[in-house]
Amino acid sequence: MLHFTFLGTSSGVPTLTRNVSGLAIRNSKNKDWILVDAGEGTQHRIQQAKLSLKNLIAVCITHVHGDHCYGLVGLLASAGMDARTAPITIIAPKEIQKWFEATTELTDLHLPYPLNFIDVNEATQIQPLTDELSIQAHPLSHRVPSFAFSIITQYTQKKLDTQALIQLGVPKDKAWGDLQQGKDIQFNDQTLKASDFIQTHIQRVHAIVGGDNDQPELLAQSCQDAQLLIHESTYTQAVLDKVGQGPMHSSAKMVAEFAQQQGLGNLILTHFSPRHQDSAGQQAIAEEVRAFYKGNFYLAHDFDQFSLDENGQLLKIDKT
Ligand SMILES: [Zn+2]
Ligand SMILES: [Zn+2]
Repeated sequence: MLHFTFLGTSSGVPTLTRNVSGLAIRNSKNKDWILVDAGEGTQHRIQQAKLSLKNLIAVCITHVHGDHCYGLVGLLASAGMDARTAPITIIAPKEIQKWFEATTELTDLHLPYPLNFIDVNEATQIQPLTDELSIQAHPLSHRVPSFAFSIITQYTQKKLDTQALIQLGVPKDKAWGDLQQGKDIQFNDQTLKASDFIQTHIQRVHAIVGGDNDQPELLAQSCQDAQLLIHESTYTQAVLDKVGQGPMHSSAKMVAEFAQQQGLGNLILTHFSPRHQDSAGQQAIAEEVRAFYKGNFYLAHDFDQFSLDENGQLLKIDKT
């Protein structure tokens, strides 16, 4: 199961109720978590969300615009305050590494732990992070190179075929335990092979988190296997038409139409322009999504939490 905490849902600038982009994603089997984007102020949001920088294993930066990365160096510096030695993987445009290196030099910053920088262009091949978690980047279309990230958790569950053992009359004692551990056993002068009695199920959860993007259809192929798309929806279509194509963002309609065409089960929209953050603005976005998409969708607010399970069921977690 994957667990999501939105740390910032405003586009461009922070507002009184929403910070700029940041999303924490945790594999629910342990405390390890990944951060996608780190707008200014993200480390304060991390504290408020009761996440620990100690358990942060990777940061993915979708693109170099400040509302997605200006918080990165500060939070990496804070992560080093308690003598951390475990590395952090950074998957980002290579300019982010240059910026980080210039800042460390100019501000006398010395991290006590290593950073493992991966150029996002190389992460278009799948990158295993841990035994269960992996990440893959997908190019998008924006004013600067921008990427989406597939976050995939996959693990194998092994279950003993107890029905078959009961039918054969194998007593439920040490024999069952041995088979469960992969040991062959002797029963009534026969060898029972553990491999014949262990059923393996592969549990897989796949979510895609987009960066800024004006062509959702670029994610058509990667979304085929995804249970959830998290995508920017900066404006309604009417406002996008007024603003024009220059900023290279998506409207709610564009994302909703794409999700409908793909048959995507779940959609979460984020990165709202300040003009769409009051209740009328949110309602306008929601109505537009509803008009073009029949699946399960949410408009994210800061500190909203969601879980996504192996069956593709997305739930909003009640914080009360
Ligand atoms: Zn942005
Ligand atoms: Zn941008």
